Amino acid sequence: MSTTAPLPLLVLGTGRDLATERGVECPGELPAPSDPGLVERARAARATLGDAVFVLGHHYQRDEVIEFADVTGDSFKLAKDAAARPDAATIVFCGVHFMAESADILTSDAQTVVLPDLAAGCSMADMAAISQVEDCWDDLVDAGVAEEVVPVTYMNSAASIKAFTGRHAGTVCTSSNARTALSWAMDKAGGGRDGAGKVLFLPDQHLGRNTWVRELGGSLTDCVVWDPHKERGGLTVEQLQAARMILWRGHCSVHGRFSVAAVEAARREIPGVRVIVHPECQHEVVELADEVGSTEKIIRTIAAAPAGTSWVVGTELNLVRRLARQFPEQRIAFLEKNVCYCSTMNRIDLPHLVWALESLVQGRVVNPVRVDPEVAAQARAALDQMLALPGETSRD
Ligand code: SF4
Repeated sequence: MSTTAPLPLLVLGTGRDLATERGVECPGELPAPSDPGLVERARAARATLGDAVFVLGHHYQRDEVIEFADVTGDSFKLAKDAAARPDAATIVFCGVHFMAESADILTSDAQTVVLPDLAAGCSMADMAAISQVEDCWDDLVDAGVAEEVVPVTYMNSAASIKAFTGRHAGTVCTSSNARTALSWAMDKAGGGRDGAGKVLFLPDQHLGRNTWVRELGGSLTDCVVWDPHKERGGLTVEQLQAARMILWRGHCSVHGRFSVAAVEAARREIPGVRVIVHPECQHEVVELADEVGSTEKIIRTIAAAPAGTSWVVGTELNLVRRLARQFPEQRIAFLEKNVCYCSTMNRIDLPHLVWALESLVQGRVVNPVRVDPEVAAQARAALDQMLALPGETSRD
């Protein structure tokens, strides 16, 4: 296996220019953030474009951007929303690169998906490079275990990783259907919880571990972590033979930072507080929480809670702040003082949105995200497998 595979911290998508601070060029006029007319310019461009353009906004986007979204949601809901609008020639995706790729895979060839800033990547998705994953599979073959392994990749992965999963007859999962996907994959691999099957779970070790232990009743000792920077993932053949869950060593740079100390402090400082966190958080944090769930579940749970309930929420800060404003009858606080916004989600700002929309008004498509057709077809197989899972629902 290769231990020196180049893995930039942020894969910036196509058209990158690493000589610039933002990583990409913006041909034409990128408005200044201080331009007082930005909101009016966005409104005017949006009105001119009408139904030819459909704007999608992920829950983690800034308020100034969400204001212009035709629909909001998690990554998979947004991809499905895009696919449900074949009349829109252009989809402007206010989210990150892997989401725009998924939208491109699920929409027709006649539609174009635009990411207003190509530097809006995802650090978790970038933790699994396709060359590393191919090396990992070769090592699993050499260790004599590959035939027992079914890959499951989180929606938060590059199209090339979804294509790898499709080639090896695995499935994509989201944070709300991870239990169903994992259970399906284990059965396919040779037996459910008590059988002999194994899953290679990419790229978020925490979602894989939390789902296996908390939702499928598995054990932490069934899990091994594959470090792509070490020989054979840093594991022995015996460890691979004994493992049920081979977890890729990836994590979300936002959710992975919520800590046990923050949960304990919240419980000390806020009487009766309920702690709700995303399953991308570390296992120890999830174990201490009152509720665990996808972005959509967090929204639903807080919306349904009685007035006066106190919450600390462990997910992206843009969403937590919006929830606090939306539900003033609840006391809603962010779980961790030392955690920031998702920096790549925040790359999509009003100047980039205005630039993308005004360019479309001028007949110029900027920052199209196009997945190679062969990669798209293989990735589509893994996405279709997810859609075929029983009771499939969408959540990030
Ligand atoms: S919140 Fe985490 S998983 Fe989501 S885009 Fe940001 S880094 Fe990626």
